[in-house]
Amino acid sequence: MTFKELKLSSALVSHLEKNQFPKPTPIQEQAIPSILAGKDVMGIAKTGSGKTLAYVLPLLDRLKNQPSENREIQALVMVPTRELAVQVSEAIILFSKALKNPLITMAVYGGVSINPQMMNMNSVDVLVATPGRLIELIEKNAVKIANTKILVLDEADKMLSMGFREEMNQVFTRLPSKIQTLLFSATLSPKVTEIIQHLTLDPVVINLPVPDEDLSLIKQIGYRVIDEKKGVLLRQLIEEHNMQQVLIFCSSTYQVEHVNDKLNTNGITSKAIHGKKAQGTRQDHLNQFKDPESDVRCLVTTDLLSRGIDIEFLPFVINYELPRSPKDYIHRIGRTGRAENPGTVISLVTPEESHHMRTIQKKTNMKVWMEDLEEWNS
Ligand code: ADP
Ligand code: MG
Repeated sequence: MTFKELKLSSALVSHLEKNQFPKPTPIQEQAIPSILAGKDVMGIAKTGSGKTLAYVLPLLDRLKNQPSENREIQALVMVPTRELAVQVSEAIILFSKALKNPLITMAVYGGVSINPQMMNMNSVDVLVATPGRLIELIEKNAVKIANTKILVLDEADKMLSMGFREEMNQVFTRLPSKIQTLLFSATLSPKVTEIIQHLTLDPVVINLPVPDEDLSLIKQIGYRVIDEKKGVLLRQLIEEHNMQQVLIFCSSTYQVEHVNDKLNTNGITSKAIHGKKAQGTRQDHLNQFKDPESDVRCLVTTDLLSRGIDIEFLPFVINYELPRSPKDYIHRIGRTGRAENPGTVISLVTPEESHHMRTIQKKTNMKVWMEDLEEWNS
Protein backbone atom coordinates (compact mmCIF):
# COMPACT_ATOMS: atom_id res chain seq x y z
CA MET A 1 0.00 0.00 0.00
CA THR A 2 1.27 3.50 -0.84
CA PHE A 3 0.26 6.93 0.45
CA LYS A 4 -1.14 7.66 -2.98
CA GLU A 5 -3.46 4.68 -2.79
CA LEU A 6 -4.81 6.08 0.46
CA LYS A 7 -6.20 8.97 -1.59
CA LEU A 8 -4.17 11.69 0.03
CA SER A 9 -3.66 14.77 -2.11
CA SER A 10 -0.76 14.66 -4.53
CA ALA A 11 0.86 17.63 -2.75
CA LEU A 12 1.10 15.64 0.46
CA VAL A 13 2.16 12.46 -1.30
CA SER A 14 5.12 14.12 -2.98
CA HIS A 15 6.04 15.87 0.26
CA LEU A 16 6.06 12.48 2.01
CA GLU A 17 8.36 11.06 -0.62
CA LYS A 18 10.66 14.05 -0.35
CA ASN A 19 10.85 13.60 3.41
CA GLN A 20 11.71 9.94 3.18
CA PHE A 21 8.42 8.45 4.22
CA PRO A 22 8.30 5.62 1.69
CA LYS A 23 5.04 3.97 2.68
CA PRO A 24 2.36 4.23 5.34
CA THR A 25 2.68 2.39 8.62
CA PRO A 26 -0.20 -0.01 9.47
CA ILE A 27 -2.05 2.53 11.63
CA GLN A 28 -1.71 5.15 8.90
CA GLU A 29 -2.93 2.70 6.30
CA GLN A 30 -6.05 1.95 8.30
CA ALA A 31 -6.85 5.33 9.80
CA ILE A 32 -6.27 7.71 6.88
CA PRO A 33 -9.12 6.54 4.56
CA SER A 34 -11.70 6.68 7.37
CA ILE A 35 -10.58 10.12 8.49
CA LEU A 36 -10.68 11.39 4.92
CA ALA A 37 -14.23 10.03 4.72
CA GLY A 38 -15.17 12.20 7.69
CA LYS A 39 -15.63 9.38 10.19
CA ASP A 40 -14.81 9.38 13.87
CA VAL A 41 -11.79 7.18 14.51
CA MET A 42 -10.38 5.49 17.54
CA GLY A 43 -6.85 4.25 16.78
CA ILE A 44 -4.86 2.07 19.12
CA ALA A 45 -1.37 1.18 17.98
CA LYS A 46 1.95 0.65 19.68
CA THR A 47 4.33 3.45 20.65
CA GLY A 48 6.42 4.74 17.78
CA SER A 49 4.10 3.40 15.07
CA GLY A 50 3.40 6.75 13.40
CA LYS A 51 0.10 7.75 14.97
CA THR A 52 0.84 11.47 14.57
CA LEU A 53 0.87 11.41 10.78
CA ALA A 54 -2.09 9.01 10.84
CA TYR A 55 -4.23 11.97 11.85
CA VAL A 56 -2.13 14.93 10.66
CA LEU A 57 -2.14 14.02 6.95
CA PRO A 58 -5.90 13.49 6.48
CA LEU A 59 -6.63 16.45 8.74
CA LEU A 60 -4.63 18.71 6.47
CA ASP A 61 -6.37 17.38 3.39
CA ARG A 62 -9.80 17.86 4.90
CA LEU A 63 -9.16 21.43 5.94
CA LYS A 64 -6.96 22.68 3.16
CA ASN A 65 -9.59 24.70 1.33
CA GLN A 66 -11.22 26.38 4.28
CA PRO A 67 -9.17 29.24 5.68
CA SER A 68 -10.31 30.32 9.13
CA GLU A 69 -11.17 33.76 10.35
CA ASN A 70 -12.22 35.68 13.45
CA ARG A 71 -10.28 33.61 15.89
CA GLU A 72 -12.31 30.56 15.03
CA ILE A 73 -10.14 27.52 14.70
CA GLN A 74 -10.81 24.62 12.35
CA ALA A 75 -9.07 21.82 14.16
CA LEU A 76 -8.12 21.32 17.76
CA VAL A 77 -5.43 18.83 18.73
CA MET A 78 -5.19 18.20 22.46
CA VAL A 79 -2.10 16.73 24.07
CA PRO A 80 -1.05 16.13 27.69
CA THR A 81 2.30 17.94 27.79
CA ARG A 82 3.91 21.12 26.52
CA GLU A 83 6.79 19.30 24.87
CA LEU A 84 4.35 17.12 22.99
CA ALA A 85 2.40 20.19 21.88
CA VAL A 86 5.59 21.56 20.32
CA GLN A 87 6.45 18.25 18.68
CA VAL A 88 2.99 17.71 17.17
CA SER A 89 2.73 21.29 15.91
CA GLU A 90 6.11 20.89 14.20
CA ALA A 91 4.84 17.81 12.37
CA ILE A 92 1.72 19.68 11.25
CA ILE A 93 3.74 22.68 10.10
CA LEU A 94 6.17 20.47 8.17
CA PHE A 95 3.41 18.85 6.14
CA SER A 96 1.22 21.90 5.89
CA LYS A 97 4.02 23.53 3.92
CA ALA A 98 3.25 21.14 1.10
CA LEU A 99 -0.20 22.64 0.61
CA LYS A 100 -0.85 25.46 -1.82
CA ASN A 101 -2.33 27.48 1.02
CA PRO A 102 -0.55 26.23 4.13
CA LEU A 103 -2.77 26.08 7.19
CA ILE A 104 -1.72 28.28 10.05
CA THR A 105 -0.78 26.14 13.00
CA MET A 106 0.03 27.16 16.52
CA ALA A 107 0.95 25.36 19.72
CA VAL A 108 -0.32 26.80 22.99
CA TYR A 109 0.65 25.57 26.42
CA GLY A 110 1.27 26.84 29.91
CA GLY A 111 4.49 27.84 31.61
CA VAL A 112 5.15 30.64 29.12
CA SER A 113 3.63 34.08 28.72
CA ILE A 114 0.09 34.03 27.39
CA ASN A 115 0.32 37.38 25.59
CA PRO A 116 2.21 36.35 22.45
CA GLN A 117 -0.13 33.37 22.13
CA MET A 118 -3.13 35.68 22.36
CA MET A 119 -1.72 38.10 19.85
CA ASN A 120 -0.93 35.43 17.29
CA MET A 121 -4.28 33.71 17.54
CA ASN A 122 -5.95 35.57 14.70
CA SER A 123 -6.56 33.29 11.73
CA VAL A 124 -5.07 30.17 13.28
CA ASP A 125 -6.49 27.09 11.55
CA VAL A 126 -5.04 24.30 13.61
CA LEU A 127 -4.48 24.73 17.31
CA VAL A 128 -2.39 22.24 19.28
CA ALA A 129 -3.03 22.73 22.96
CA THR A 130 -2.68 21.48 26.47
CA PRO A 131 -5.99 21.75 28.36
CA GLY A 132 -5.18 24.37 31.00
CA ARG A 133 -3.86 27.00 28.62
CA LEU A 134 -6.62 26.39 26.10
CA ILE A 135 -9.24 27.17 28.74
CA GLU A 136 -7.38 30.32 29.75
CA LEU A 137 -7.33 31.48 26.15
CA ILE A 138 -11.02 30.73 25.69
CA GLU A 139 -11.87 32.64 28.84
CA LYS A 140 -9.91 35.62 27.59
CA ASN A 141 -11.84 35.46 24.34
CA ALA A 142 -8.62 34.94 22.45
CA VAL A 143 -9.87 31.84 20.69
CA LYS A 144 -13.23 30.46 19.69
CA ILE A 145 -13.73 26.74 19.40
CA ALA A 146 -17.48 26.67 18.79
CA ASN A 147 -17.05 25.97 15.08
CA THR A 148 -14.18 23.51 15.28
CA LYS A 149 -14.54 20.81 12.66
CA ILE A 150 -12.04 18.25 13.85
CA LEU A 151 -11.03 17.33 17.38
CA VAL A 152 -8.01 15.13 18.00
CA LEU A 153 -7.05 13.69 21.34
CA ASP A 154 -3.50 12.43 21.09
CA GLU A 155 -2.58 10.16 24.02
CA ALA A 156 -6.36 9.84 24.30
CA ASP A 157 -6.40 7.68 27.40
CA LYS A 158 -4.30 10.22 29.25
CA MET A 159 -6.45 13.12 28.05
CA LEU A 160 -9.54 11.35 29.35
CA SER A 161 -8.04 10.21 32.63
CA MET A 162 -8.99 11.65 36.01
CA GLY A 163 -6.17 14.18 36.00
CA PHE A 164 -7.58 16.04 33.00
CA ARG A 165 -11.26 15.19 33.50
CA GLU A 166 -12.46 18.54 34.74
CA GLU A 167 -10.56 20.60 32.19
CA MET A 168 -11.55 18.37 29.31
CA ASN A 169 -15.21 18.57 30.29
CA GLN A 170 -14.95 22.33 30.08
CA VAL A 171 -13.49 22.03 26.61
CA PHE A 172 -16.14 19.53 25.47
CA THR A 173 -19.03 21.77 26.50
CA ARG A 174 -17.66 24.52 24.27
CA LEU A 175 -17.16 22.39 21.19
CA PRO A 176 -19.96 22.01 18.65
CA SER A 177 -22.02 18.84 18.84
CA LYS A 178 -21.25 18.02 15.23
CA ILE A 179 -17.54 17.47 15.09
CA GLN A 180 -15.22 14.80 13.75
CA THR A 181 -13.50 13.21 16.72
CA LEU A 182 -10.19 11.37 16.37
CA LEU A 183 -8.62 9.53 19.26
CA PHE A 184 -5.18 7.97 19.27
CA SER A 185 -3.21 6.12 21.90
CA ALA A 186 -0.95 3.16 22.52
CA THR A 187 -2.87 2.11 25.61
CA LEU A 188 -6.48 2.20 26.69
CA SER A 189 -8.29 1.45 29.90
CA PRO A 190 -11.87 0.13 30.18
CA LYS A 191 -12.99 3.27 32.00
CA VAL A 192 -11.78 5.45 29.17
CA THR A 193 -13.45 3.20 26.60
CA GLU A 194 -16.75 4.03 28.25
CA ILE A 195 -16.17 7.77 27.97
CA ILE A 196 -15.18 7.35 24.35
CA GLN A 197 -18.58 5.88 23.56
CA HIS A 198 -20.20 9.14 24.61
CA LEU A 199 -17.64 11.22 22.83
CA THR A 200 -17.78 9.62 19.42
CA LEU A 201 -20.45 8.74 16.90
CA ASP A 202 -20.23 5.25 15.48
CA PRO A 203 -16.43 5.39 15.42
CA VAL A 204 -14.18 3.26 13.27
CA VAL A 205 -12.16 1.36 15.84
CA ILE A 206 -8.69 0.31 14.81
CA ASN A 207 -6.90 -1.75 17.38
CA LEU A 208 -3.58 -3.08 16.14
CA PRO A 209 -1.98 -5.78 18.24
CA VAL A 210 1.69 -5.45 19.12
CA PRO A 211 3.41 -7.99 16.86
CA ASP A 212 5.52 -10.73 18.42
CA GLU A 213 8.70 -9.66 16.66
CA ASP A 214 8.51 -6.43 18.67
CA LEU A 215 9.66 -8.30 21.71
CA SER A 216 13.05 -8.55 20.06
CA LEU A 217 13.03 -4.89 18.96
CA ILE A 218 13.19 -3.64 22.54
CA LYS A 219 15.53 -5.60 24.75
CA GLN A 220 14.39 -5.44 28.37
CA ILE A 221 16.79 -6.08 31.22
CA GLY A 222 16.38 -5.68 34.96
CA TYR A 223 19.14 -5.40 37.55
CA ARG A 224 18.43 -6.38 41.11
CA VAL A 225 20.17 -3.76 43.22
CA ILE A 226 19.92 -2.31 46.69
CA ASP A 227 18.91 1.33 46.84
CA GLU A 228 22.31 2.63 48.03
CA LYS A 229 24.03 1.16 44.99
CA LYS A 230 21.69 2.40 42.28
CA GLY A 231 23.79 5.50 41.55
CA VAL A 232 27.03 3.58 41.08
CA LEU A 233 25.33 0.90 39.01
CA LEU A 234 23.75 3.57 36.80
CA ARG A 235 27.10 5.17 36.06
CA GLN A 236 28.73 1.81 35.46
CA LEU A 237 26.01 0.82 32.99
CA ILE A 238 26.34 4.10 31.12
CA GLU A 239 30.09 3.62 30.76
CA GLU A 240 30.01 -0.12 30.14
CA HIS A 241 27.52 0.20 27.28
CA ASN A 242 29.17 3.43 26.16
CA MET A 243 25.76 5.09 26.16
CA GLN A 244 25.83 8.38 24.30
CA GLN A 245 22.10 9.02 24.51
CA VAL A 246 20.06 7.65 27.37
CA LEU A 247 16.73 8.74 28.80
CA ILE A 248 16.55 8.10 32.55
CA PHE A 249 13.23 7.98 34.41
CA CYS A 250 12.80 8.67 38.12
CA SER A 251 9.61 8.91 40.12
CA SER A 252 10.06 12.31 41.75
CA THR A 253 11.41 15.77 40.99
CA TYR A 254 13.74 15.44 43.92
CA GLN A 255 15.21 12.19 42.63
CA VAL A 256 15.56 13.62 39.11
CA GLU A 257 17.68 16.48 40.46
CA HIS A 258 19.71 14.15 42.62
CA VAL A 259 20.51 11.66 39.85
CA ASN A 260 21.27 14.47 37.41
CA ASP A 261 23.68 16.15 39.85
CA LYS A 262 25.48 12.90 40.53
CA LEU A 263 25.97 12.17 36.85
CA ASN A 264 27.36 15.63 36.17
CA THR A 265 29.73 15.58 39.12
CA ASN A 266 31.01 12.26 37.84
CA GLY A 267 31.78 13.69 34.43
CA ILE A 268 28.76 12.34 32.56
CA THR A 269 27.01 15.29 30.92
CA SER A 270 23.38 15.23 31.86
CA LYS A 271 20.31 17.50 31.85
CA ALA A 272 17.13 17.30 33.89
CA ILE A 273 13.51 17.98 32.99
CA HIS A 274 10.62 18.03 35.44
CA GLY A 275 7.47 19.96 36.19
CA LYS A 276 9.15 22.53 38.40
CA LYS A 277 11.57 23.75 35.74
CA ALA A 278 10.94 26.81 33.62
CA GLN A 279 9.38 25.90 30.29
CA GLY A 280 12.13 27.50 28.22
CA THR A 281 14.72 25.43 30.04
CA ARG A 282 12.66 22.26 29.61
CA GLN A 283 12.45 22.71 25.86
CA ASP A 284 16.14 23.69 25.58
CA HIS A 285 17.25 20.62 27.45
CA LEU A 286 15.07 18.35 25.34
CA ASN A 287 16.40 19.90 22.13
CA GLN A 288 20.00 19.52 23.28
CA PHE A 289 19.43 15.92 24.25
CA LYS A 290 17.83 15.14 20.90
CA ASP A 291 20.66 16.77 18.95
CA PRO A 292 23.14 14.03 18.00
CA GLU A 293 25.91 16.64 17.79
CA SER A 294 25.52 17.86 21.38
CA ASP A 295 27.59 16.46 24.25
CA VAL A 296 24.55 15.85 26.45
CA ARG A 297 24.45 12.11 27.02
CA CYS A 298 21.72 11.77 29.62
CA LEU A 299 18.31 13.29 30.12
CA VAL A 300 16.86 12.60 33.55
CA THR A 301 13.14 13.07 33.90
CA THR A 302 9.81 12.01 35.39
CA ASP A 303 6.82 10.43 33.66
CA LEU A 304 6.23 13.87 32.22
CA LEU A 305 8.31 12.76 29.26
CA SER A 306 6.97 9.22 29.09
CA ARG A 307 4.19 10.16 26.68
CA GLY A 308 4.51 10.71 22.97
CA ILE A 309 7.95 12.28 22.81
CA ASP A 310 9.79 11.12 19.70
CA ILE A 311 13.57 10.99 19.86
CA GLU A 312 14.91 9.55 16.65
CA PHE A 313 17.02 6.41 17.12
CA LEU A 314 17.07 6.75 20.92
CA PRO A 315 19.00 3.60 21.87
CA PHE A 316 18.61 3.46 25.67
CA VAL A 317 15.98 4.01 28.34
CA ILE A 318 16.76 3.43 32.01
CA ASN A 319 14.17 3.11 34.75
CA TYR A 320 16.14 4.36 37.73
CA GLU A 321 12.92 3.77 39.60
CA LEU A 322 9.95 1.80 38.31
CA PRO A 323 6.86 3.70 37.19
CA ARG A 324 3.74 3.47 39.25
CA SER A 325 1.61 1.74 36.65
CA PRO A 326 2.26 -0.93 34.01
CA LYS A 327 0.76 1.51 31.51
CA ASP A 328 3.44 4.08 32.30
CA TYR A 329 6.02 1.34 31.82
CA ILE A 330 4.72 0.77 28.28
CA HIS A 331 4.95 4.48 27.47
CA ARG A 332 8.40 4.89 29.02
CA ILE A 333 9.96 2.00 27.13
CA GLY A 334 8.18 3.20 24.00
CA ARG A 335 10.56 6.17 23.81
CA THR A 336 12.99 3.66 22.32
CA GLY A 337 12.33 1.00 19.67
CA ARG A 338 10.52 3.57 17.53
CA ALA A 339 9.87 3.35 13.80
CA GLU A 340 11.28 -0.20 13.75
CA ASN A 341 14.63 0.81 15.28
CA PRO A 342 16.05 -1.33 18.08
CA GLY A 343 16.48 -0.23 21.68
CA THR A 344 17.44 -1.38 25.16
CA VAL A 345 15.57 -0.74 28.37
CA ILE A 346 17.25 -1.30 31.71
CA SER A 347 15.31 -1.22 34.97
CA LEU A 348 17.04 -0.90 38.33
CA VAL A 349 14.98 -2.95 40.76
CA THR A 350 15.37 -2.89 44.55
CA PRO A 351 14.10 -5.79 46.68
CA GLU A 352 11.12 -3.57 47.56
CA GLU A 353 10.34 -3.08 43.88
CA SER A 354 10.66 -6.76 42.92
CA HIS A 355 7.02 -7.56 43.38
CA HIS A 356 6.03 -4.51 41.34
CA MET A 357 8.40 -5.54 38.55
CA ARG A 358 6.65 -8.91 38.40
CA THR A 359 3.25 -7.21 38.27
CA ILE A 360 4.40 -5.00 35.42
CA GLN A 361 5.60 -8.00 33.45
CA LYS A 362 2.37 -9.86 34.03
CA LYS A 363 0.11 -6.94 33.14
CA THR A 364 2.07 -5.93 30.06
CA ASN A 365 2.69 -9.49 29.00
CA MET A 366 6.37 -8.65 28.58
CA LYS A 367 9.43 -10.52 29.69
CA VAL A 368 12.22 -8.68 31.46
CA TRP A 369 15.48 -10.55 31.74
CA MET A 370 16.63 -10.18 35.38
CA GLU A 371 20.31 -9.95 36.28
CA ASP A 372 20.96 -10.90 39.87
CA LEU A 373 24.57 -10.15 40.78
CA GLU A 374 25.91 -10.47 44.30
CA GLU A 375 27.94 -7.26 44.12
CA TRP A 376 24.86 -5.05 43.69
CA ASN A 377 22.83 -6.71 46.40
CA SER A 378 24.88 -6.31 49.53
P1 ADP B 1 3.49 7.30 17.83
O1 ADP B 1 2.67 8.55 17.98
O2 ADP B 1 2.72 6.15 17.26
O3 ADP B 1 4.22 6.92 19.07
P2 ADP B 1 5.03 8.98 16.04
O4 ADP B 1 3.89 9.52 15.28
O5 ADP B 1 5.67 9.87 17.05
O6 ADP B 1 4.62 7.60 16.75
O7 ADP B 1 6.10 8.45 14.98
C1 ADP B 1 7.27 7.79 15.37
C2 ADP B 1 8.36 8.02 14.34
O8 ADP B 1 8.06 7.34 13.13
C3 ADP B 1 8.54 9.48 14.00
O9 ADP B 1 9.91 9.80 14.02
C4 ADP B 1 7.97 9.60 12.61
O10 ADP B 1 8.59 10.61 11.86
C5 ADP B 1 8.24 8.23 12.04
N1 ADP B 1 7.27 7.84 10.98
C6 ADP B 1 5.95 8.12 10.97
N2 ADP B 1 5.35 7.62 9.86
C7 ADP B 1 6.33 7.02 9.14
C8 ADP B 1 6.34 6.32 7.89
N3 ADP B 1 5.25 6.14 7.17
N4 ADP B 1 7.53 5.85 7.45
C9 ADP B 1 8.66 6.02 8.19
N5 ADP B 1 8.71 6.66 9.37
C10 ADP B 1 7.56 7.15 9.86
MG1 MG C 1 2.23 9.83 19.52
